Amino acid sequence: MKEDNIKKLIDFTLEVTNGCRYNCTGCSIDKDGNSWPSDEEFNKIFALVDDLDKNEFRPMNLQIGPTDIMTSVNKDLVLTSPKIKMLSKKFLKTAINCAFLDPFNENYIKLGSQLNWLLEGGLVKFVVPFEAYHIDNKEYVDRIRKRIQLTLENMPDVKHTKTYLLINYETSSVYDKENNTNITEELILKTYQSPILDGLTADIILPHTRTDLRVEKNSTEFYSAVMKLKEYVTRARNKYGKSVDIAELLPHEGKDWDIFYKAGKLYMTPFLLEGLASFDDEYEVKGAWTFEGLYNSYINGFLEQVDWASKNTACQGCQLVPECAERGIHTLMKISGITECISPAKSLEDKIIWT
Ligand code: SF4
Repeated sequence: MKEDNIKKLIDFTLEVTNGCRYNCTGCSIDKDGNSWPSDEEFNKIFALVDDLDKNEFRPMNLQIGPTDIMTSVNKDLVLTSPKIKMLSKKFLKTAINCAFLDPFNENYIKLGSQLNWLLEGGLVKFVVPFEAYHIDNKEYVDRIRKRIQLTLENMPDVKHTKTYLLINYETSSVYDKENNTNITEELILKTYQSPILDGLTADIILPHTRTDLRVEKNSTEFYSAVMKLKEYVTRARNKYGKSVDIAELLPHEGKDWDIFYKAGKLYMTPFLLEGLASFDDEYEVKGAWTFEGLYNSYINGFLEQVDWASKNTACQGCQLVPECAERGIHTLMKISGITECISPAKSLEDKIIWT
């Protein structure tokens, strides 16, 4: 099977790191449930990436996660793995999740030399979880910059492309405790426009949907967090105009696939806000780990969601139905029992330039 008209990019995440010493606000990452792929699974992943490549999909980004690599209990297994080295060579670049909070310089020297072996001749992107209230803290950001620099000094054979700060707005409301003022909108502006973050790429995340959304507590918390953030982003955009970049908050236009390996299964997860992965059954690839297997899973999911949206009053007549269906947003709503629109794009519809 070959779909000549489809030219998509592949983001492939290996959820293999275990354990993490940190407790970022609202983190719902599974710190212990990420098992190492068997040799057979590694072979199936290699074959899948080759098959996708043959079918006009571009393996763009391999991500090693989900927890901070430096405090991961299996970090040496990950960083010295010939299988991961082979896999990274199939992708344009490799993203490494690292909080850069370890206080010891010698650990960054070791991390750099291990990454130099693992990604030799390739490109690296660092993905850094970051609490929103640190955006104004120059000393904190400079400390992270220095540790990244030290790591890179020990990676002469790898080219650094960018450092990506994932700004955690899980609490949605951020307060200046001294003055008891809500500063969420100002921080959303600074996520996109702050001299302190110069040279770093920053984006908003809401890492909330890894847990089972059929559980009422999880679904209520997810709904409340996403609606509050949607409200703040809309207000920030209306207040600060184009300085607040809304493009990343919109459902993607189906130009890429986010594929996750986790504990022996593959998932094609939703995209509503950056970093929002779900391992609910609906996102699992049930067919073969081939282009055809994934394509069928994608198309079936798309059609089911368009059907669901046509019966959901809030979505009827909305011009964003295809975008939301491509990115798994209606499935998120369905399994969480939500009928009201959760997409920030809807409230900013008049500000989107349609191409
Ligand atoms: S933007 Fe909202 S209303 Fe429109 S299709 Fe998506 S979820 Fe439904």
